[in-house]
Parts: sequence; structure tokens; C-alpha cells
Amino acid sequence: MIALIDLRSDTLTRPTPEMLEAMIHADVGDDSRGEDPTVKKLEELAANITGKEAALFCNSGTMANIIALLTHCKRGDRVAIDPFSHIYRREKSLFKEEYFGLRAVFYETDTFRVPQNKKQAKLMCLENSIAYTGGTCISITQTNEICETAKIPIHIDGARIFNVAAHFNIPVKKLIENVDSVQFCLSKGLGAPIGSMLCGSSAFIERAKEIRKIIGGGMRQAGIIAAAGIVALQNTPQLKIDNEHTSLLARKILHNSPILHLDLETVQTNIIIAEVSNSGYMANIFAEKLKNRGLQVRAISDTKIRMVIYREITKEKIDKAAEIINQFCKEILLDRRNHHGTKKSKK
Ligand SMILES: *Cc1c(COP(=O)(O)O)cnc(C)c1O
Repeated sequence: MIALIDLRSDTLTRPTPEMLEAMIHADVGDDSRGEDPTVKKLEELAANITGKEAALFCNSGTMANIIALLTHCKRGDRVAIDPFSHIYRREKSLFKEEYFGLRAVFYETDTFRVPQNKKQAKLMCLENSIAYTGGTCISITQTNEICETAKIPIHIDGARIFNVAAHFNIPVKKLIENVDSVQFCLSKGLGAPIGSMLCGSSAFIERAKEIRKIIGGGMRQAGIIAAAGIVALQNTPQLKIDNEHTSLLARKILHNSPILHLDLETVQTNIIIAEVSNSGYMANIFAEKLKNRGLQVRAISDTKIRMVIYREITKEKIDKAAEIINQFCKEILLDRRNHHGTKKSKK
């Protein structure tokens, strides 16, 4: 049995020996009483690195986004949002009447223009990098323009914002200078086993802490996991490597196969989305066939597969993954030719 190369998600990163070591030796206390020194240290670090006054350690990115929206808004408030974003599609409870009861106002996804409805939106959400477009980035200039024209508070779902900063080669704090709050995941490319940080003004984080408690996000000796988060925040240089590996894989695939289509311009960070309808297979079958050859990818629609690169995906694995995909594409082409060949020779 060959070891699978697993490109389904960057949530598959495993804690490094350094993280495990830090977890064992973490100094802890009851975080719900504000007495865990390791959590405090992580929150200070996160606030510093994002250039915000304060930060809050949350169980997950989903929880951090929910807390953010419930801190900025109350039931019935309108939130300007991209209909394909993670917050809208995967954190639906926010917009369900029977749960949190916020209302969505969709903005133009290419211009980020909020429609001038009679009733103003209270908050605008951005996602950076944008997952459904293959990890594409919103630049500093764009972000600042959006902040200026929106004239309402901006929350960024920055699950992979450090990949964006690596792409532009700038510190994260520059990228989000004018936004009001940001959420980023410690548990994706940064490699921690658990956790996300919500960052914003001190007053915002004070209120957010209350909401976190209400929805059951208060933890006790959370320093155990925060310790891994502190190590994760030192892992940002790895994301540059991940982005480079992703670009390398995309270029290797593109040049070798007419079966599979991908737009190199969208490959900016650590995600590749490829269109496989020319293969004649549904994306889930295409993925299944790659899995039999040793490569795991995720079908994200009937026609598209997604690959995500992270620390454990070394240069050797990138080469191997490209080889598996290209070999499979060649076989499809060959089959097709043989098939045509037999049909013709019968005539
Ligand atoms: C992963 C992700 C989240 C949610 O993070 P979890 O820790 O999995 O809850 C939110 N937004 C985006 C864009 C993501 O990719």
C-alpha cells in the first residue's frame, strides 16, 4: 500500500515536535477567569502581529466569525456579504431566523460594491484569501478602497490571511490596517492542532469575550493548546514555501495536460482549483481515480477539484502529485485515441 499524498485541505497539518514540547511545558490557569498566562501571551502576540489592540483565542474559525458578527451586529441587522463566502455558506446559523437572525445583503463580488439599499448594512465582511476562487487575494489598495467607500465597519474572515501576506510579501498588519476586526486560523497552514484568533479594538474584544462565553466557547486550562498557537505564529515563513510549492504544482500540471483546466492567475496562495469536465468524468469520480493512484484531492462541485498545499507537502510530494495527475490525464487521452481508432478501423 503506497502512502497517499493528501491535498484535501491545509487543516491536515499535524503539530510539530516543537509544538508538542511547548504544550507539555505550558504554564496554565483558568482562562474563563482570565488567568491563563499562555493564552494571554498568545492573545498579546496575535494583537501585535495584526496591529490591533486586543485578541481573543477561539475554538475555531467558524466560532471566531460567529462571535465577530454577533459582536458587531444584533438580530435583524443587515450584513453585506459575498454569497459564496465561508461565512454565508458554511456559517448559515448566523442568517437563520430561528438562530441568530442576521440578514444578508449581497455585494458585487468583483467590485465589492455594497448596494445602496434603503436600510443600510451594519457591517461588511470580506474573505481574504477567497477560498472559493482558489485562494485569490484582495490587495492592500483594494482593501483600503473598500474600507473608504463602504463607510461601515469591516470584518475580515482571514482564515488564510498569512498566505495572503506571504503572497504580497508584506506584514499582515499592513494589509488590515483599516479594517475593524479580523479572524485568522492557527489550525490551517500555520499548523496548530486547534484554534483561531479574533482581533480588534479592546472594546470590541471585551464584548466578544461575553459572546464567546454565551455560545460555550469559554475554556479552562486552554494554555495547553494556546502554547501550540504561539509556536504556530512563528511558522509564517513556511507559508511562503507553501505558496511557492502550490505555484510549482500548478505550472507542472498546466503544461502537461489538455484534460484538466486551471487558470494560473488564480493560483496566488496555497490552493489550486482545477476544472476536470474535459476528462469526461464527474469531479468526484476523477478524485476517486486519483486516490487509487495515490493522490487525494477534494471534489468541490460536479466539475471541479481542489488541492491545498501545506507544510507536510514537500517538494518531492509536489513532483509526485504532478506525476500522478499528468499520468492519469495521459491515460485518458490514450484511451480516447484508441477508442476513436477502433471505431474508425471498423468502418
Ligand atoms: C476554514 C475556514 C473557516 C473556518 O475555520 P474552522 O476553524 O474550520 O472553523 C472560515 N473561513 C474560511 C475562509 C475558511 O477557509
